[in-house]
Amino acid sequence: MKKIIVIICTFLLLSIANGCKSESIETNDNNIQNSTAEDNTPNDTVEENKDKIISYHFADKEEGVELLMSNDAYFDGFSKNELEFKMQKKDATIEEYKEFAKSQVLDFSDDHKALIDEYMSKIEQIIITNGYHLPQHDEIVFVCTTMEEECGVSAYTHGIQIYLGNKALDRFSSAETVDYTLDLLLAHELFHCLTRCNPDFRKDMYKIIHFTIQDEDFVLPSAVKEYYITNPDVEHIDAYAQFVIDGKPFDCYMALVTKNHFEKKGDLFFDTATAALVPVDGSEKYYYPEDAANFDDILGKNTDYTIDPEECMADNFAYAIVYGLNGQDGKGYNSPEIIEGIIDYLKQ
Ligand SMILES: [Zn+2]
Repeated sequence: MKKIIVIICTFLLLSIANGCKSESIETNDNNIQNSTAEDNTPNDTVEENKDKIISYHFADKEEGVELLMSNDAYFDGFSKNELEFKMQKKDATIEEYKEFAKSQVLDFSDDHKALIDEYMSKIEQIIITNGYHLPQHDEIVFVCTTMEEECGVSAYTHGIQIYLGNKALDRFSSAETVDYTLDLLLAHELFHCLTRCNPDFRKDMYKIIHFTIQDEDFVLPSAVKEYYITNPDVEHIDAYAQFVIDGKPFDCYMALVTKNHFEKKGDLFFDTATAALVPVDGSEKYYYPEDAANFDDILGKNTDYTIDPEECMADNFAYAIVYGLNGQDGKGYNSPEIIEGIIDYLKQ
């Protein structure tokens, strides 16, 4: 649960996939041919690369507010429980929340822009050096906020919008030790943008951790809805895997819920949030990860951020990009097959 606080990420439902195209993948093959290195060490040829592999721009405050408010489907998904946790008061309304969220959007400082440019360049260099082919995406938009609108997380996404917290960027700028570096964070958020723009990529990534995506989103039973927390990083709840619970197989999808309702100011949903394993048959009874004997076999053991297949694979994607096959400092992985699956895909 600690990682939910420290990291990222974020949350669910149907944010509008802002302008994502579904055309075929285009990467800069000329530059890729310049290098066949298998490691993640940047090389000098990249400095000459004029065509960005990952196109992006920084939104100013005005554009950021407009983009944030464009995600109607996300705001419409908020439950009473969630609004109260996010606004830290009983009977909070979505109108109050939206006004609050708007007031949290900021302009990027020049230092923060330079920092993001530096780390995005590092990610691009890794992609070129290793001959990876990223799925198609439209131009990413970075938006800076205080993150108070999402309970102080470091970053989150809607569509192809990546929201970054100014305090997190300050931490990344300083010598202060952080347990999750900016390149990992950016690669994690980039994964969410890529899955939204490329359903087939999403399907193939989820398959690596044994999840199957169906055509429609699941309809949450009322018992889940009551405690449900939306995650802007998870736009669809439409993937399931077979979990073994009480010795029997159950096809379940994952949903983020709180174990308790908001009662008073100071109650944080991070303290009570957990993944729920919800049977696909629509029954009201749901389970928790600790109830499934094969939970780690399904989602692997590379990350404990396993509240949803989207978040689990976003972390694994970030590790694959930043650390490569050999892992951080060559220490390998607890579940190397997941990283191998991602890298095999990127090399196609
Ligand atoms: Zn995420």
